[in-house]
Amino acid sequence: MRLVLVGPPGAGKGTQAVRLAERLEVPHISTGDLFRANLSADTPLGLAAKRFMDAGELVSDEVTVGMVRERLTEDDAAKGFILDGFPRTVAQADALGEMLHAAGDDLDAVVALEVPEDVLVERLLGRGRTDDTEAVIRRRQEIYRDETAPLLEHYGDLLVTVDAVGEIEQITERVVDALGAG
Ligand code: AMP
Repeated sequence: MRLVLVGPPGAGKGTQAVRLAERLEVPHISTGDLFRANLSADTPLGLAAKRFMDAGELVSDEVTVGMVRERLTEDDAAKGFILDGFPRTVAQADALGEMLHAAGDDLDAVVALEVPEDVLVERLLGRGRTDDTEAVIRRRQEIYRDETAPLLEHYGDLLVTVDAVGEIEQITERVVDALGAG
């Protein structure tokens, strides 16, 4: 199964992506995690991404798409994947579509996790990551609204919307049910 998980920062994408990956037996591919791993390892990619991440801004489409392209050519991604945090712009979505089509593949679904905004800010302030200061959180919400939310319409019929307020286990079940993958 080839899935994309979309949702505003704080919607629980990471948490759900890990659980769904296990359930559906596909790798979990998080661009945020990949960037953080590059940062920790002091790679040129990590260095290039750092100032954007610190500010809550998006890393360029070029750098991000290049990183995803490489990750998707690894063996474990051949039969499916859950993308978490990518695509985040329509340009990234187009690039992903081209990558998949070139291999004769397509996405099966785009899962949108829905959470009201006040719940989001509360969750994020409790998370304690270094890029989780209030100003950066607000900036990430803004970027989500301006750059990422348009993807919901862009994906049209592929979109599966799930209410992401509630217990973690319950939300996973809602996604699995919505995908008809139970
Ligand atoms: P995340 O863990 O998904 O919140 O990502 C952390 C940070 O990594 C983001 O605030 C961006 O700076 C960067 N990042 C992650 N995914 C992307 C993406 N698809 N496009 C651009 N930047 C990204």
